[in-house]
Amino acid sequence: MIERTLILVKPDGVQRHLVGEVISRFEKAGLKIVGMKMVWCDKEHAMKHYTEDITVRRGEHVRNKLLRFLVMGPVVALCLEGIEAVDVVRKIVGDTQPKTAAPGTIRGDYAHISYAYADAHDKAIPNLIHASGNKDEAKAEIALWFKDSELYNYKLPHEEHIL
Ligand code: ADP
Ligand code: MG
Repeated sequence: MIERTLILVKPDGVQRHLVGEVISRFEKAGLKIVGMKMVWCDKEHAMKHYTEDITVRRGEHVRNKLLRFLVMGPVVALCLEGIEAVDVVRKIVGDTQPKTAAPGTIRGDYAHISYAYADAHDKAIPNLIHASGNKDEAKAEIALWFKDSELYNYKLPHEEHIL
């Protein structure tokens, strides 16, 4: 039940000085940072991250906007570990659309853009965070962003007592 998941603070989150705030929310929930780095990726890498799966679910047009968005500036990549971490992180991140993301979630607290506005302005939704959608996605995405040697196994003090 201990899972790892991949988070990106997307270019909008880095440029809005929200990296520390985002990391702090995950840390406060007890998730363990097992990998972390800043990356300014190119289109080839972005295409491996936002795969054809996005085309199937959201359409080619959204994928193209998203690829342009992801390479606009550096991102901060995090690999987090914890109990059922994939779902827990998605809960902390909130809905894809900030307009409907619940207050208390990262997307709900720090953004409010809607699908309609993004469509009208031909832009990808700047919703601050990418978080793996399921365990298979997490496995593939962690392997894409991190080498094995960049991921660390260590114990947090509270693990001795609580887990
Ligand atoms: P999530 O990031 O919540 O897992 P998806 O994987 O479905 O959501 O989509 C990836 C990203 O594509 C979203 O985080 C958002 O930035 C962008 N996106 C999704 N749908 C749209 C849309 N209709 N218009 C613009 N951008 C979109
Ligand atoms: Mg997704």
